[in-house]
Amino acid sequence: MQLSFHFDTDPAPILPAVRDQLARLQRGRFRRGGGLDPISQLVKSSISSRTRDEVSQLAFERLRARFPSWDHLADARAAEVEATIARVTFADDKARHLVTALRRLRAEQGGLDLDFLKDMPVEWAMNRLQALPNVGDKVAAAVLNFSTLRRRVMVVDTHVWRAARRIGLAPANADPRAVRLAIMEQAPPSWTADDFFELHCLLKGLGQQLCMHDHMDCGHCPLAGFCAQRPL
Ligand code: SF4
Repeated sequence: MQLSFHFDTDPAPILPAVRDQLARLQRGRFRRGGGLDPISQLVKSSISSRTRDEVSQLAFERLRARFPSWDHLADARAAEVEATIARVTFADDKARHLVTALRRLRAEQGGLDLDFLKDMPVEWAMNRLQALPNVGDKVAAAVLNFSTLRRRVMVVDTHVWRAARRIGLAPANADPRAVRLAIMEQAPPSWTADDFFELHCLLKGLGQQLCMHDHMDCGHCPLAGFCAQRPL
């Protein structure tokens, strides 16, 4: 079901301005490479929640070094996977769910392959991924946008979720999925997958550096001119 959002004022001009203002501040920092294949991105995103990027990246590299292929990972004991990713948060749950998800995907698709999602409608692909254990909206969006699938999907992590609502890109009570849909609805049709990737990186950086959970450094924020939550 497609959600629609209603604001007191027309939000359409805000999103490109947000992107442009933040890009000026952090110019050139977020150039994407080719991306991981979709299964690798699924593995990486599945172990990254509530974990610092450098810790989850290291855990992902340890998985790649330990298992010759993702089929070997799917066949591994959850305890072995847990030991390999021990430094990420909730390593036991993540290991168990990851092994189950890969096995289920392999059984349902006849192999570890997500390339068929490239041509499916985005929300269909989101729902297909979220049918796997422990795959939520953020992980599904990351698989579709960050990987070589390169789909037009906004990835909303905790920093993007917080900053987007404060700015006024989505209602204050919107959950992460609703924020994703609100941003995608407001995005110009010309925006590509790479534009969404850049916006994700820019809003994440904003949320980490200026618009933090317990402190808003509005005095140094390039969005203060039109942010809905700026101090008067
Ligand atoms: S102006 Fe303040 S509340 Fe708005 S995005 Fe910037 S830091 Fe956050």
